[in-house]
Parts: sequence; C-alpha cells; structure tokens
Amino acid sequence: MELLSNSHNELTLNPGSIQPHGVLLALSTQLEILQVSSNTQVYLDKQPEELLGQPLSSLLDAPGLEAIAQLPTEEIDTLNYLKLSVPTKEGKRDFHAFVHHLGDKIILELESTQSPDEVNFINIYALIKRAIAKLKRTNNLIDFLQLAAQQTREITGFDRVMVYQFDHQGAGEVIAEVKTQELSPYLGLHYPATDIPEPARDLYRRNSLRLIPRINAQPVELLSSIDDTPLDLSLSVLRSVHPCCVEFHQNMGVAALMVIPLIKNGNLWGLISCHHQTPKYVPYEIRSGCEFLGQIVSSELANKVIQEEVDYKARLESLRSGVVESISQVDNFRDALIQPEPRLLGLVGATGAAVCLDGEISLVGATPDLEDVRSLITWADTQVNDNIFYTDSLPKLYPEAETFKDAASGLLLLRISKLRHYYILWFRPEVIRTVRWAGNPNESIQVNPDGSFTLCPRTSFEQWQEIVRLTSAPWQECEIDSALSLRNAIVGIVLKKAEELAKINQELERSNRELASFAYAASHDLKEPLRGIYNYSVILLEDYASVLDEDATEFLQTVISLSVRMEALINGLLRLSQLGQAALQLQAVNLNELLDQVINVFHASRQQHNLELRIPRPLPTIRCDPVLMNEVFSNLITNAFKYNDKAERWVEIGYLDQQGGQGSNFSTLSSPGSHSPITFYVRDNGIGIPPHHRQTIFKLFKRLHTQEKYGGGTGAGLAIAKKIIERHGGQIWVESTPGEGSTFYLTLE
Ligand code: ADP
Repeated sequence: MELLSNSHNELTLNPGSIQPHGVLLALSTQLEILQVSSNTQVYLDKQPEELLGQPLSSLLDAPGLEAIAQLPTEEIDTLNYLKLSVPTKEGKRDFHAFVHHLGDKIILELESTQSPDEVNFINIYALIKRAIAKLKRTNNLIDFLQLAAQQTREITGFDRVMVYQFDHQGAGEVIAEVKTQELSPYLGLHYPATDIPEPARDLYRRNSLRLIPRINAQPVELLSSIDDTPLDLSLSVLRSVHPCCVEFHQNMGVAALMVIPLIKNGNLWGLISCHHQTPKYVPYEIRSGCEFLGQIVSSELANKVIQEEVDYKARLESLRSGVVESISQVDNFRDALIQPEPRLLGLVGATGAAVCLDGEISLVGATPDLEDVRSLITWADTQVNDNIFYTDSLPKLYPEAETFKDAASGLLLLRISKLRHYYILWFRPEVIRTVRWAGNPNESIQVNPDGSFTLCPRTSFEQWQEIVRLTSAPWQECEIDSALSLRNAIVGIVLKKAEELAKINQELERSNRELASFAYAASHDLKEPLRGIYNYSVILLEDYASVLDEDATEFLQTVISLSVRMEALINGLLRLSQLGQAALQLQAVNLNELLDQVINVFHASRQQHNLELRIPRPLPTIRCDPVLMNEVFSNLITNAFKYNDKAERWVEIGYLDQQGGQGSNFSTLSSPGSHSPITFYVRDNGIGIPPHHRQTIFKLFKRLHTQEKYGGGTGAGLAIAKKIIERHGGQIWVESTPGEGSTFYLTLE
C-alpha cells in the first residue's frame, strides 16, 4: 500500500477509487470523517487533510447535519437521496447527496447540482409519464422493449440505447435498439457471458442505475488518516470504472455510458444500455426519471414475458387443434399431419420434420436425407422415455448426426406407436449458424479465481463457440408439452376410430352369421317338402297316367321341372351359405394338376363337346384350398363352353406377368403393399358380356338369359366363385367384348 506524506498527517491511499464528477466521504456513525476522495478541494473548497479526522460539522451547517442524522439506518442496500447545501469560503454550494450505510460507516457522496443542461423536473416528470402510458399500450415483448429504448433515448439524448437480454447461460443478445443514423447497428448481436463477469452482474442486481459520464476519466483515489480499511463501493454512485470495462468500451468507441438493469422475479434479466460517443453527464433528475422508468419496465417485464409465453402456448395449441381436426376428419392420416407444412413445423417451433408411418417416411422443411432419418429413428427409438426423446445437441449423443448438423443439431422425436412404426421427428439447425458475434473476438475479460477480472485475449470466445457447436436452440417445455398433447390426441383419435371399426365389424359379423345360418336353415328345410312335391308329382305321372288328360300331364311335368329347378337354386344358396362358414383348407396346389382334374370331370360329364383347352405356359403352384379352387375353375370353364355360339370354341387359362401382363390390353389390379399377387385369367371366344352386366353377373341368381338359352343355369355359379376368391383374400372381375369373348381375371392373396 502506497503511503503519502504531508506536513500534517500521514495519509493512506486506500484501494478503490471514484469517478471525478463528485466527492466521497466515509463517516463513522458519530459522523466523524474517516476517509475522503482526494478531490475535495474542487467541490468543497477544502483539502482532504482539512477534513480527515474532523467531525462532519466542520463541513456542514446544522440543517445539513440534521438531515443526515435523520436518515434511516436500518435498511441495507438502500441509497438515500437528499439535497445538501455546503458552506464554503466562496459561499454556499448545492449538492445532490447520496447516503448509504455500510456496516459501522456512513458513505456520503456529493454531486454538484450545477449541470450543463438546465433541468426542469416538471418536464422530466411529463416525459416519464408519457413514456409509461405508451409502454402500457404495447402488446408484445419486443415492441415493449423497443419502446423502452426509444423513450430512454428521448429522455437522455444518448447516441445509442440498446436492450440486452441474457440467456440461461448469461450470454447477452441485443433485442432492441435505437441510435443515431451514422452508428452501425448492434441489433441481433450476441455477447459471450464473460463480457459481463459475475461480480459486475452482481453490482447490476444491487444498483438501479449506473452512470459513467467519461469512460476514460482519471479515477480519484480515496484517502484516510485514522481508518484505512478498504471500502466496499458496491453501492457507491461514483464508484470508478474497472479498467477492463474502460478498455472494452473504448474498443467500441464509447465515451460515456449509462446502464439500467432489468430485473425479473429478482433475477438479472437484461440491461438497458446507453452509449455516447463523447463524454456525457446525465443530471440527477433525469437519472432518477430513467431509474423509475427502469423499474416500471422491470415490473412490466414479468407480465410481458408471461404474456409472451401464454401467447406462444396459445399459438401452439391452435396449431395443434388444427392438426387434430384434420386428422379426425380425413382418412389420409399422413396428409392431415403434413399439410400445410408450416403448421407441422410450427407445432414445436422446428425448421424441419419427418413423419414415419408404417415405416414410410415423408420429409418436410430442412431435414437429413431419407436414409439418415431412417437410421436416426432406429437409434432414437432406444432413447425414448415416455414416448418422447429430445435433445438440443444430437451430434454429441449420436456422432453420425455431425454430417447433418446444419439441419438437425436438435431433435424432438415423438413415438406414436412402436408396433405400427409411427413416429414424428422435428429438427432444429446448429445454433452457431444464427449467432452474430459482437466486438473484437480477440479480446475479452477473464474472471480470476479470486473474483477479480482482467482483460485477456478472447479465448472465451473460442470456449463459447465450443459450447454452442453442434447445438441447437433448446426445446422449450411448452413445445415438448405440445408434442406430447399431439400424441395423446392422435392416440385418442386412432383408438376411437379402431373402436368404431371394431363395433361395425362385430355388427357385420353378427348379421353375416345370422344371414348365413338363416340361408342354410331355409335352404336345408326347403329341400324336404320340395323332394315330396317332386316325388308325388312323379308318382302321379307314372301311376295315374291313364286317368290324367293331356293338360294335367303337362302341368305335372311343369311342376316336376320347376321343383328340379328350385332344388338347383336351393343347392346354390346352400353352397353359398356353407362357404361363408367353413374354414379354408390351404395348401400348396399345383394348378396344372388341379386343371387336369377339372377338365377330366368336364369331359366325363359331357358326351358331346367341342371345347379346345389352351394353356400357353405351365401354371405355377400356389397356396389355396384345392376343392374350392376346383369349383371356381370348373364353373368358369363350364361357362366358357356354355356361353359360346362359335363353331370352334376355345378357352385359354393362364396368368399375367407381375409387371402387368402379356402386353396387349391386359390389365391387372394393383394391390396395396409391396408384393402383388399373381393375376390368373380364363379367356373364351364366347358371346361376351355387355358392359353394364360385368358387375351384376357376380350376384346370386343373376342370369342374363332365359332358361331355354345356353343350357340353362341357376345364376349361382359366379356368386359362388366370387365368394371363394374373396375367402382367399383375392378378387375376380371380367373384361369382355360382346360377340368376341370374355376374360375372367382372378387374384389370390
Ligand atoms: P349360370 O348358372 O347361369 O351359368 P353363373 O353365375 O355362372 O350362372 O353366370 C351368370 C350369368 O353370367 C350367366 O347366366 C351368363 O349370362 C353370364 N356369363 C357367365 N359366364 C359367361 C361367359 N363366359 N360368357 C358370357 N356370359 C357369361
């Protein structure tokens, strides 16, 4: 510690100093002057030696002493203000006095009231009142802060007024700014947390305004004679500026500085920072106006931030309900989710998304490519907890992501169904791409372990860059909640739809069963009386032929043929109803062998036939019920023969290539799913089927001709064939050119 000698006393130079725009006196509780700043001569017309060790009464008159004695002592961290008149050799001088208690000391700071500007307190009051009224009218946070900056500038006249906001790591971002035109903008710039070291932040928390009228002013040291304990100047309005801070601001071309801390819920949320290119003193009246404005902004801040969050949540909710509405209204789940794309992204504030349904992936916005997304899902699925997984540093957990960090340094994955492979993924880019750095990155402030800080090359810049490398903006709680609520809604809708479907199916099954057993019972029970009618008619015809006249014989013959026909119809109905109930006997069946049997039976049952059978290439072996497929082919071949008036009748049986056939005009039904079943065909050169009957011929008892034509029939054959094919999970349909022939196509799953 340096010692100064003079003729009267031995004075001690204390650590700590003040700015030269005022004087500081440290007093004992008995109002004895213990320490003073070395500039007392300038303001008080007295040398420090004349004051040190003296009672305060040597400086102030009775009313001044009385005013100081009256100040409350118990409140800590409170700066008291009063106006003081100090008698000097040159007459009375007026001061703004700031008094605070510091342990067993009282700190008295005096600033001259003679300011360069003529300050009218009434004007300031009017300005502040107007500013507050305007602030109250703003709706969103940024507008509010922009207006706060604007009003501060209007009141103070600084070249530049900015509002910084600190993030959870303490880094600052300029989110509002007003400035003279010639200055380059700082809006949007980021400052590393180390630019404002923790001790400085602590001081901002404790002081409602800090003024540095001349950043490079020579600091004024503190002197003491009796008491040389260092003073804690945390609450001092005149506290001098740390050399780091001086250098930092000089680098930015700032000559004067005023800072108003913004406090939200007791925490330092940000700063209103005012810069001037030339030295600038701000009179006390204006400062106290700004201080008041700062407090209004601070207290409104919490409301505005909450409002902002509430608004954002409401926005997420409205997007979500839009998606949910779309999903519940349309059948195409994927489209309902994806369209419109900004809605899907907005749900959680993402820049890209991938929707994976049944393993099929659709991409929206900026995303990794399809294969990367596929592998990512496989990995992320193992990380899922309660159907969700999110990270703002994906490449650190999943190194493969480093290649697509620009699209997906942040991932939020929502698992809707593991079984169905339903996932929604949202992506965010690496944040460093969106950060613009402020100041000279080669210089920074470093905090030493003892809490002091020094200027050093800006290694902290690298460090901070390291922290944000491969990192996205963090997912907010409300965004995660939004994703989870979407999942609940989707699951709810899907479950509801599945329940409705199951109900309908149950109902259908029940009525199907009822119908089948009714048809079976009816046809079965009808056969017996029918047999009776037939038998008695035959007996009548044979045994009573002598007593029957010609008409009666003819009537009886009609009864017999009608009952035969009715039996055939009943048999058809019976067969159809049986088909619905019996289980399929599936096995590998060589269709060539099956067709041999069909043809043999066909030939055996007809003495006379002239049907040429064509099988252009061997048929494959397929899995089916051989008895039922036999029935299908024999029905189709019989029809091909029956409904043919050509001299040379032929029927061709074959199958189409997987790609879609044999060239020409063959077509195949494309089926959903990856494997498409084989399409078989049975083609003839018969009479053909008119277009409007190509569906109806598959209905039960539908015939296109009278009994007499084309050998009769019940109209049940194709209905039975259709039922068999459907039982196999396949389809049957016909294409035909009347007069030239028909082709029946069939598929089996
Ligand atoms: P049916 O016992 O009358 O033959 P189907 O159900 O087998 O009953 O056929 C229904 C109707 O479809 C037939 O009455 C006939 O008019 C028409 N039809 C079926 N196959 C052919 C074909 N190969 N060519 C032309 N018409 C056909």
